[in-house]
Amino acid sequence: MSKTILVLGGGWGGLTAAHALKGKLLGDYRIAVIEKRQSFVFYPSFLRAMIGETTGLKYIESPLKNLLKKDLEIINEEVIRIDPETKTVYTNAQTIQADYIIIAMGAELYPETIPGFNEHCLNIYDKQGAFDIHEKLKTFTKGKIAFLVTRTPFRCPPAPYEAAMLAEWFIREKGIRNDVEISIYTPEKFPMPSAGEQVGEAFKQILNAHNIQFFPENTVTKIEDHKIIFSNNKEVSCDLLIGVPPHGAPKAIVESGLTNSSGYIPVHPQTMEMLDNVEELTTRFPGIYAIGDSAGIMLLNGKYLPKGGVFAEEEA
Ligand SMILES: Cc1cc2nc3c(=O)[nH]c(=O)nc-3n(C[C@H](O)[C@H](O)[C@H](O)COP(=O)(O)OP(=O)(O)OC[C@H]3O[C@@H](n4cnc5c(N)ncnc54)[C@H](O)[C@@H]3O)c2cc1C
Repeated sequence: MSKTILVLGGGWGGLTAAHALKGKLLGDYRIAVIEKRQSFVFYPSFLRAMIGETTGLKYIESPLKNLLKKDLEIINEEVIRIDPETKTVYTNAQTIQADYIIIAMGAELYPETIPGFNEHCLNIYDKQGAFDIHEKLKTFTKGKIAFLVTRTPFRCPPAPYEAAMLAEWFIREKGIRNDVEISIYTPEKFPMPSAGEQVGEAFKQILNAHNIQFFPENTVTKIEDHKIIFSNNKEVSCDLLIGVPPHGAPKAIVESGLTNSSGYIPVHPQTMEMLDNVEELTTRFPGIYAIGDSAGIMLLNGKYLPKGGVFAEEEA
């Protein structure tokens, strides 16, 4: 009897998992990727778009059909609900029964949960946002550019810092560096906390050397026109605001009851199988796996594994 493996999400982790399985499994298996988008989006390109090195959407996204091996099945539908007890996946168009499920649906952005974000902050984690930032940087002549991390965790912990340093380079190349102040506001204690305090300190020194001001432990509550309001009532004005919106597990995962207090799916750090209890490492749903940004992996140091493409790929 043929067995069905459903890979939910055709991003960095899901495509890697599907291809790896296709290469390894010899028997009678149906491997299908369910992906709501028509294209694979390569998020790291957003930073290049921000400084004008990537000039069009075709350098950021690629049609899925070009990336998949010919005999890999892609179902272009949206996952609405997953029933882990019966290994059933409900999409917007059909119900599919699986023998194994790999959940690789990434993280979802929730900018609307910060009042004023969509209206007053350019989103560096959005493909159009990256191009919009470039247009603003091109015409920027003087004043304050603020980078804002709204909530943790978020995809790729170094990315906002890379973005600030690239903007600094862009402004310097334009010859207006002395007229521009660049600052970063974040709820984190130091940059990339999961890499430890020493790395954080080294990172701060690099920012300092580029005259980028760093304001840790600042949690935004509201954004107004050219103004950020933090939970301690501090208000900061700026001329250009660039932000990382809050992240969370995709709605279909949350509504299927698969998350724990981390907001993501708890999994065994070696097998990626879903866990009931992270401390005891017990497996709750054999044959159901979660990888990449959808997974919440508690490390031995009590911190969560950062959300990154390299991890998604290794887990796959
Ligand atoms: C600006 C930026 C720079 C980055 N730079 C790096 C870097 O240099 N190195 C690095 O390792 N990582 C980097 N990352 C992080 C990396 O891109 C992510 O961690 C990685 O994409 C996670 O892979 P994933 O497969 O878990 O999720 P994703 O790649 O997000 O894929 C999830 C897929 O699931 C699909 N999906 C979601 N919900 C549904 C649904 N209901 N139904 C069907 N499909 C669904 C989505 O459309 C998406 O295609 C960066 C991220 C950003 C934003």
